[in-house]
Amino acid sequence: MTSDRMEVPVAGRAMSRPSSPDVVVVGAGLAGLYQMHRLRRLGLSYRVFEAGSGIGGTWFWNRYPGARCDVESLQYSYSFSEELEQEWKWTERYPTQPEILRYIEHVAQRYDLHRDVELDTRVTSAVWDGERWAITTDRPETVSARYVIYATGCLSQPREIDIPGLDNFRGNVWSTARWPHDDVDFTGRRVAVIGTGSSGVQLIPVIAQQAAELTVFQRTANYIIPARNAPLSPQAQQEHKANYPTHRRLARESPAGLLGVQGQTSALDATAEERRQAFEQAWSTGGLTALRADYHDLSLDPAANRTVSDFLRDKIRSIVCDPETAEALAPSDHPFGTKRPCLDTGYFQTYNLDHVRLVDLRTTPITTITTHGIQTTDQHIEIDDLVLATGFDAMTGALLAIDIRGRHGLRLADAWADGPTTYLGLQIAGFPNMFTITGPGSPSVLSNMIVSIEQHVDWISDCLTHLNGQVIEASPHAQQRWVAHVAETADQTLMNHANSWYVGANIPGKPRVVMPYVGGVGRYRAICDKVAAAGYEGFVLTPPE
Ligand code: FAD
Ligand code: NAP
Repeated sequence: MTSDRMEVPVAGRAMSRPSSPDVVVVGAGLAGLYQMHRLRRLGLSYRVFEAGSGIGGTWFWNRYPGARCDVESLQYSYSFSEELEQEWKWTERYPTQPEILRYIEHVAQRYDLHRDVELDTRVTSAVWDGERWAITTDRPETVSARYVIYATGCLSQPREIDIPGLDNFRGNVWSTARWPHDDVDFTGRRVAVIGTGSSGVQLIPVIAQQAAELTVFQRTANYIIPARNAPLSPQAQQEHKANYPTHRRLARESPAGLLGVQGQTSALDATAEERRQAFEQAWSTGGLTALRADYHDLSLDPAANRTVSDFLRDKIRSIVCDPETAEALAPSDHPFGTKRPCLDTGYFQTYNLDHVRLVDLRTTPITTITTHGIQTTDQHIEIDDLVLATGFDAMTGALLAIDIRGRHGLRLADAWADGPTTYLGLQIAGFPNMFTITGPGSPSVLSNMIVSIEQHVDWISDCLTHLNGQVIEASPHAQQRWVAHVAETADQTLMNHANSWYVGANIPGKPRVVMPYVGGVGRYRAICDKVAAAGYEGFVLTPPE
């Protein structure tokens, strides 16, 4: 494959970039960077566009106080290079956002990735002309690429806030998903936080340490498990690294891309005392997988799920002193695990501080934001700063923000009018030569995402080698069967029992579909490998004209 070249100004100097590369990659987070690394090794020409002014994706944008990974550092790291995984030293069980960003910068420097990322460049449209993709950015250039790979992220498109009166507010408005690069000092200030998902739960205890008054506006209470973060001892790190090949293999074969014993028995076969002991053990261990270590049916059977949901509600009542606040913080409208569980460090304890209070929006909704505060149905709360931890248009938002038009002008927005449809979360019928990394219909957000990212990048890279310039497109029939399989698998679980972002319920008007594949990382990988081994079964391959 060949490409013309044109001069593109990059940071004050002109660099030669192909105007007709083999591949365009959109996004330079963990996915886009690794994809670029693989393309370079394959000898393909490429362009990489990133809307942000730096690399790192999630870890570039989400700089709010307390931002930290919920997956252990030794597992939330690339596995593609033994040297890399051995040389990088993590400092804590769960890495902070700055530490992850430093890690990503280290990877980029080590593999000389910076020079090929075009920052501050947003892809606005992509049109298939029958042979290639015409890709337009917000810079005055259209690039023609044989293949396009969207590494645009599942949680990169912040949700638009729909609270009336926001424009009236004269104080500062901060969004967790677009946090400024300079520190924000809340010392002595009256702060409001709206949103109690993972971002809010991490941020609230940290802001409480500075603010004079902190009011948290909660719409839905969440299940929250202690992180039990701690420094990582050199010895523990060394032991883990010595067994990296085994650990990585086990993670790849596991349901969620995470190490940890997967329960084999039913929670309902245990006595109440046995369950209590098991859950107490998990509570003191902390982490996302601990509570699932003993029982296999917590996410399948409502009665089994109630045992763990009750345990977590009781924990809240035992920590939070004010009974009314404790009751409001105890989730009651969805089973454990059907919304993303949060990990915390001192979240519930924060509500025992005199200057922190909770407003339960289920009983007293916000009527409007005013010039100096927030008006609910029963009070006006004066504030200086408003922090929005209100989440994302997950999984489809970043893709649909681009005007993507496939075969015969088919708009992605129309193809997905009733919810996202994909084959394996990797391709979409009607959109040839277009790949999505961790797209809907793949395990993606239900996994340790770096494991799923590497799996997709490796699969796509092998596929490109196999294609050698051929056109590839998911067959409508294979896609239909996969979509049905994704839905059936989800129906066997409790996944649809909550109004979560997993089903698009956080975005008004978004079709309700369980978007990620619930079947598990290991099982999914085996399916993808089988499809490739069978000559890319379910895809139609046609030679170039
Ligand atoms: P992203 O990191 O989202 O990168 C996508 C990039 O694409 C962004 O930089 C964006 O600017 C760019 N982009 C999007 N659209 C365009 C466009 N049109 N043109 C140009 N560029 C574009 N996952 C876990 O497994 N464990 C965790 O503990 C965890 N913690 C998280 C914490 C937070 C606060 C958030 C928001 C997410 C978290 N995630 C976690 C999920 C996280 O998104 C993934 O782990 C991973 O970082 C995703 O990498 P990515 O490269 O696929 O996407
Ligand atoms: P989120 O989980 O979607 O939480 C958004 C919060 O804002 C919810 O409490 C939501 O209430 C509330 N909200 C939204 N609009 C509102 C409105 N108009 N009025 C009042 N409340 C409103 O978003 P997030 O916390 O940013 O997390 C998103 C995902 O990113 C997580 O689930 C996780 O996958 C990832 N993440 C991970 C980590 C980590 O692992 N360390 C940290 C942060 C984020 P409702 O629930 O009622 O909609």
